[in-house]
Amino acid sequence: GATIGVLGGGQLGRMLALAGRAMGYRFATLDPTPDAPCGQVADKQIVAGYDDIEAARKLAELSDVITYEFENVDASVTELLMNESYVPQGSRLLYTTQHRLREKRAIEAAGVKVAPYAEIGSVEQLREAVGRFGTPCVLKTATGGYDGKGQWVIRSAEEIEEAYATLSRAKTELVLEQFIRFAKEISVIAARSPRGEVRAFPAAENEHVNNILHVSIVPARVPADVLERAERMAVQIAEGLDVIGLIAVEMFLTEDGELFVNELAPRPHNSGHYTMEACRTSQFEQHVRAICNLPLGDPALMQPVVMANVLGEHVEPLLAWIAKPESEREVAGVTAKLHLYGKQEAKQGRKMGHVNLLTASPEAAFRWIEASNIWESNKK
Ligand code: ATP
Ligand code: MG
Ligand code: MG
Repeated sequence: GATIGVLGGGQLGRMLALAGRAMGYRFATLDPTPDAPCGQVADKQIVAGYDDIEAARKLAELSDVITYEFENVDASVTELLMNESYVPQGSRLLYTTQHRLREKRAIEAAGVKVAPYAEIGSVEQLREAVGRFGTPCVLKTATGGYDGKGQWVIRSAEEIEEAYATLSRAKTELVLEQFIRFAKEISVIAARSPRGEVRAFPAAENEHVNNILHVSIVPARVPADVLERAERMAVQIAEGLDVIGLIAVEMFLTEDGELFVNELAPRPHNSGHYTMEACRTSQFEQHVRAICNLPLGDPALMQPVVMANVLGEHVEPLLAWIAKPESEREVAGVTAKLHLYGKQEAKQGRKMGHVNLLTASPEAAFRWIEASNIWESNKK
């Protein structure tokens, strides 16, 4: 079978490889960590930095198709891979989504709304924009941020100097966003193939703890017209940005039903892990289908589901839960499907795995979350 090369060796690459292997593909990965989650399940593993041109050349030689599992790929590496192999996703989408300002402009050009924002180049500009948006508002670095890192919620004008000085150290442009008092955060993952086919997965309702996704609830508990609009926005973005593969669209839903896009990710997304058991096609199979130009699969939900993330601090109670007899693990009406990523060090906040709770009612899934004792530390 053909070999798919994956830039990056994390859990997204691992689950992509597991799905792709079931479809008969082989996998090669490039990651600096020898025992990376994706490398563990790949046929070939190149251990080198993401900016190592020679290593990238080797990946190109091994692979018929190349994809990535994170967005901060070095531009020179993408260029080399495009010249020496086949990168159906291209470099433009990466270039756009690597940078919040470029991303926001592209979303707007696709006819979709983002939270009001301003480019910030000086502390004077910041003061002017904070005056315009009011407090609170959110200052973000344009590149490199994740899990809420590289952000500052400005709660009063007195914080302007410190926020600017702190985030400026990142040596990237800054962007100020109006604070959206959202009622809910939702996300939609869409896939688009080179032949122009587009499919969107059902929207997930996302709850974060300390800026890291805690649970995704599907179907999202929002009115049907919101679901339809959210899915249409994701499709519009997939088409407007000429996406190949997956695009994850994070959105804010306000009390009066307005939707704003927060940010994009051009890859499988944590909030799409529910698709693994709950949808007719998983996000990982769909990504493989899209980049290999196969007809896309049906994204329909087979069963309601709640996905709960397992972080480093949850691993010990999770292992205790696994060791219990089945009778003590049962919660009526819930089937728990566990996924661990093979990471050794259970550091605080590190994504170690997730549990998909298949159930007709989210309340039953929340009872399971309580009864399992795995997420007790979230309450502290
Ligand atoms: P990720 O890990 O999802 O990539 P990130 O570091 O890129 O996170 P964002 O998604 O931009 O950060 O923001 C993290 C969280 O902070 C959001 O999910 C949301 O809860 C909150 N947030 C961000 N921007 C705003 C805003 N303009 N108004 C209100 N809340 C916001
Ligand atoms: Mg982000
Ligand atoms: Mg985000």
